[in-house]
Amino acid sequence: CEQAEVSTSRVIMTLMKLGIMANINQNIDEDTLMVLADDLGISVVVGQVEEEEKEEGIEDFKDREKDLKPRPPIITVMGHVDHGKTSLLDAIRKTNVTSTESGGITQAIGASEVSINGQKIVFLDTPGHEAFTAMRARGAHVTDIAVLVVAADDSVKPQTIESISHAKAAGVPIIVAINKMDKPGANPDLVKKDLADHGVLVEDWGGDVISVPVSAKTGEGITNLLEMILLQAEVLELKANPNRLAMGSVIEARLDRSKGPVASLLVLNGTLQAGQSIVAGTCSGRIRLMVNDKGEAIKKAGPATAVEILGLTDVPQAGDEFNAVRDDKVAREIAARRQEKLREEVLAKNSSMTLDKLFSQIQEGDVKELNLIIKGDVQGSVGALNSSLEKLNNENVKVNVVHSGVGTVSESDIMLAETSGAVIIGFNVRPSTAVTTMADQKGVEIRLYRVIYDVINDVEAAMKGMLDPEY
Ligand code: GDP
Repeated sequence: CEQAEVSTSRVIMTLMKLGIMANINQNIDEDTLMVLADDLGISVVVGQVEEEEKEEGIEDFKDREKDLKPRPPIITVMGHVDHGKTSLLDAIRKTNVTSTESGGITQAIGASEVSINGQKIVFLDTPGHEAFTAMRARGAHVTDIAVLVVAADDSVKPQTIESISHAKAAGVPIIVAINKMDKPGANPDLVKKDLADHGVLVEDWGGDVISVPVSAKTGEGITNLLEMILLQAEVLELKANPNRLAMGSVIEARLDRSKGPVASLLVLNGTLQAGQSIVAGTCSGRIRLMVNDKGEAIKKAGPATAVEILGLTDVPQAGDEFNAVRDDKVAREIAARRQEKLREEVLAKNSSMTLDKLFSQIQEGDVKELNLIIKGDVQGSVGALNSSLEKLNNENVKVNVVHSGVGTVSESDIMLAETSGAVIIGFNVRPSTAVTTMADQKGVEIRLYRVIYDVINDVEAAMKGMLDPEY
């Protein structure tokens, strides 16, 4: 309605005429929507509605051509295991270390910057197509060029082929780094032939894919590889508008016991400034501190810059989009709206499963369920809890993790627990007083733990307690 500039009351009136009693927050099905649109004399493109939905408060204009400035390329390194992805990234970072820098120690903030001939290249720190695809699955398109590492003594292997498919599916150009050239068994010609067999035609084979022989061990060819990346980037004409509110992607996030939520952000457009308010996924906050990949506090971060920030109220997920917004209030409102939407989605998923549940209950007799929400300080423990708790399933009680994530217990978790009748497990986190109070008011149980074994013991005991007494 907001987009079509038709008043809500008019929509509701029209729906009533159609015999549908609707309220302002209700979703209507596609058929009704078409009839409604027809009645109101507006056109609706079903399917694109979601995509075109502009979020209020987020600056989302098309940048004018004259505002666009060239920006550095963002690179992901992919390839088969043991072909030298990590070694190559290390070697690349080393070429960048100048003696004047403070020991040249780089901080792991999810991405590293390298300078070559005065031009910047950004490398994502997590190599492999898994991370690349996980980010893409969340809608993040943060890679301009994929560097495909192929060991010269091992040639094309299954994950090489997977990497090619993923890069192609994403429409991301490939540069081949033929690694381990120092090894006696190196056979770059075989690599090129095998690549051709998988649809990657390097220049020697009449194609346009750049390939560079390198050795992560000796450093041979690394400078050449970096120059070739710049050359490829030039062809892509990568541009961004530094003079607008920043937007980009969350590349990593964690909960630090003393600093609170810590997020690594990659600015894709605009300039991010310390002190600004941002939304990242369903989280919001004001940037208290912003550091670059050298660990230095900075005030501004332009396009294609990776930064680590403090100040979010919660931990976003890798791949979440972030946006700088006008003020804190706007940030909070957008985050709240997204939390609401997420909760609805989770609920819809759960209720859509009720038929299944009902069916299995009938089949298996009197099945009872223990719904859980799991929140923890790091992904590792959350994952471990998820899998060990779900293993506790037995024929009488099912453990059902309704939601899990990194971060402390939030108000949205309480609301979800209330509507889904779940118990909240907090691992190495401490909810705020406001959250604890809210949980008390709503009769939601939060159980806090520091040892995984204790969680499992308690849940097991609860499951036994839920069983009907035997006679
Ligand atoms: P990844 O699994 O693709 O990240 O591969 P790694 O970077 O962990 O490298 C796997 C192994 O190959 C390690 O033992 C490296 O020391 C070795 N390696 C990587 N690059 C080279 C290279 O250029 N030459 C030689 N001789 N060994 C290399």
